[in-house]
Amino acid sequence: MTAKLSLPRRALLSAALATVLAAALPAQAQERVLNLYSARHYQTDEALYSNFTKATGIKINRIELGDEPLLERLRTEGAASPADVVLLVDAARIWRAQQEGLFAPVQSRILTERIPADLRAPDNTWFAFSSRARVIVYDKSKVKPAEVDTYEKLAAPGNKGKLCIRSGSHPYNLSLFGSVLERSGEAATTTWLKGLVDNMARDPKGGDTDQIRAVASGECQIAVTNTYYFVRLMKSSRPEDKELVQKVGLIFPNQATSGTHMNISGGAMARNAKNRAEAQAFLEYLASDEAQAYFANGNNEWPVVNGARAANPELTALGDFKRERLSIATIGRQAAAAQRLLDRVGFR
Ligand code: FE
Repeated sequence: MTAKLSLPRRALLSAALATVLAAALPAQAQERVLNLYSARHYQTDEALYSNFTKATGIKINRIELGDEPLLERLRTEGAASPADVVLLVDAARIWRAQQEGLFAPVQSRILTERIPADLRAPDNTWFAFSSRARVIVYDKSKVKPAEVDTYEKLAAPGNKGKLCIRSGSHPYNLSLFGSVLERSGEAATTTWLKGLVDNMARDPKGGDTDQIRAVASGECQIAVTNTYYFVRLMKSSRPEDKELVQKVGLIFPNQATSGTHMNISGGAMARNAKNRAEAQAFLEYLASDEAQAYFANGNNEWPVVNGARAANPELTALGDFKRERLSIATIGRQAAAAQRLLDRVGFR
């Protein structure tokens, strides 16, 4: 028969029991788990997860989905969602998920000290763990770097019929357009977007890699891409990719002015997380030097923590450059406004 205990006494006893168990049992036997919803699926992430489990005893149950299906699942599951941590890409997407209340704030000195202020939410609802740049690539045999060294020049009359770019409403473009909107205002941004449409070599289709390939094949001469797609081609052993990398130049735009537009991969604790301590431990782990290297290298991105280094020779070969320092929250907000401008100029 169980002894009847008053509630505080019982709570005290079970806390004491938990402490005894924690001391007596190996980490794994406690069955501490973490449910991770990830829009990332890279080889080196495996090492990331297994190292975390080794260090903490926390087992990771992973669900991998595309960004939009992942967010849709979180919305549908609501309070019943088993998700503890969410990993996503793109500032505008992360910002929107935050606005929808899908994340819970995390008060962590480790996270606020290690992650620069412009790369996390002011209310600590999400944190960037790696960054990528949105750059311009061009056909080295037909285009001079000075003709494409700013985002503004993509709309220049001299570049008519040369541009390949994915759909305007893709989050990567919306984030870029949002940053232009923040810097230049609505009228100038609308004119600029109209200029992009006028300069297109073809209607938008495919992803960033398709745009780079279209430059290599001669279908267009200029394209816009995230850096990691280009670095992936640099690492490729396929002869046609090696040839492509020789043919296509890469420019970090706006070096003399605002700097190159940056975007992020980030993480958050899910609003209805049940394993909160485990979720926080995982987010803090992602900010460690070791995890930063794995996380960044998994997708050929830059770590965000000062001093964290990723040994990635191809990425390093792109060189150093001036980054735009707009807060991700600002970009996210403006990206939503940029969507409305697209309709005006017929950028689909
Ligand atoms: Fe991508």
